Amino acid sequence: MQENQLMVIYGDDPRTMVETLLQKIKPEEGLPRTAKIGLKPNLVLDKPAASGATTHPELVEGIIKYFQARGYHDLRIMEGSWVGAQTERAFQICGYQELAAQYQVPLINLKRDRTITRQVGALTLEVCASVLEVDYLINLPVLKAHCQTALTCALKNLKGCVPDAEKRRFHRMGLHQPIAHLAAALPTQLTIVDGICGDLTFEEGGNPVPMGRVFAGRDPVLIDAYAASLLGLAAEDVPYIAIAAGLGVGEDNLDKAEIIEFNPEAKSAQPFRLSRRVQSLARYIEECEACSACYGSLIHALHRLEEEGELSRLGLGPKAVKIGQGFRGVNGEGLGVGVCTRGLQSSIPGCPPTARAIKDFLGKLNLD
Ligand code: SF4
Repeated sequence: MQENQLMVIYGDDPRTMVETLLQKIKPEEGLPRTAKIGLKPNLVLDKPAASGATTHPELVEGIIKYFQARGYHDLRIMEGSWVGAQTERAFQICGYQELAAQYQVPLINLKRDRTITRQVGALTLEVCASVLEVDYLINLPVLKAHCQTALTCALKNLKGCVPDAEKRRFHRMGLHQPIAHLAAALPTQLTIVDGICGDLTFEEGGNPVPMGRVFAGRDPVLIDAYAASLLGLAAEDVPYIAIAAGLGVGEDNLDKAEIIEFNPEAKSAQPFRLSRRVQSLARYIEECEACSACYGSLIHALHRLEEEGELSRLGLGPKAVKIGQGFRGVNGEGLGVGVCTRGLQSSIPGCPPTARAIKDFLGKLNLD
C-alpha cells in the first residue's frame, strides 16, 4: 500500500470488511512473524460502539484473526480512556474483555503504564511506553465529530496513549499543538478507521450517524484530511491537521490522495435508528432505499450548515432533499443527493458524495 493511498470498503459488517481490506493492504509483507503488534482502538469511555463513541470490537476481531491466521501471535490491545473514565470498565462494556479472552490477546490499560519522554520541536511529551515499544502500531479510531477540535479520528485517537496528567496538559495547551506533536512522537504504521456509525457532534456518543464504511491508510494526516471531508469539514477547519503536516507527519492535501473504493456496488440500504438530534436533521430528507454511506454524509452536511447558520437561510422544507436508490430513474423537479437522484432538476453527484461536497452544493443554493 502506497503512502498516498486511502482504501475504502462499504458495508455494515466490520469484521469481514476489515479482513477484506487487510487482504488488499497485505500488512504482513516485510513484517517478521515475531513482530509485536499493537492495536489502539478508541475506547474513550464505557459505551458500546452502537452509541457512536467507540471502536466496534468486531473490527478488532477481524484484525486479530487476520494476523493470527498468518502466524503472528504477539498482539496486544492498548487504550487509556479519557480522564474520569475507567479503561477496565470500557474494556468490559465495549466487549473487549470477551474478545481478549477468546483470542488470547492481552489488554493493556495505558493509564497504568510507565512513560517515556519524547521531545518534538519545543514540546516535551510523556508517552506511554507500551505503545512506543511495539514494532507495528495499528491505530483504530472512530470517524466522529468532536466538541472542541471539530473532528476526532486518526491523530486525536493517539491522545489515549498518554497518561491522564498529560491529557489534562493537552487541554491547557489548546489541544491542536500537542495532538500534532504527539503524532510526530508516535509513528503509526497503519490506520484503520471505524466509519460504521460515529457520532454527529461529540466524542462521547449518543447521536450515532450511520456511515457504513471502513477505510485505511498509512498516512494519518491524509486519513484525517479525508475524514474531515466526510464530516463536511475542510482540513483547515481542524488546525492540528496542518500542524502535523508541517511537522512532517504526513500530507494534508487531499488532492494528492489516491482514494480506492473496493466495493462501490456494496453500499447497503440499512434501516436507520436515529437519535432525536439526528431526527431533527432527518426531517429535511426524503429517503428511499438510501445507503448508510450516502445518508450519513447528508446528515453531517446538514449539521455543518446548521452550525454555520446557513440551514435557516436555505429555508428547506420538510423532506426537501431526496436520497436513495429508490429515486433511480425518477425524473422531474426536486433536489437530490447522489447519482441515484440524477434525474432530478438539481442533483449532487457522487456515490456517495462526501459531506463536504453536499455542504458546498447546498450552501450555494438559492431556493427563493
Ligand atoms: S448515490 Fe445511490 S447507490 Fe450511491 S451511495 Fe447514494 S444511495 Fe447508495
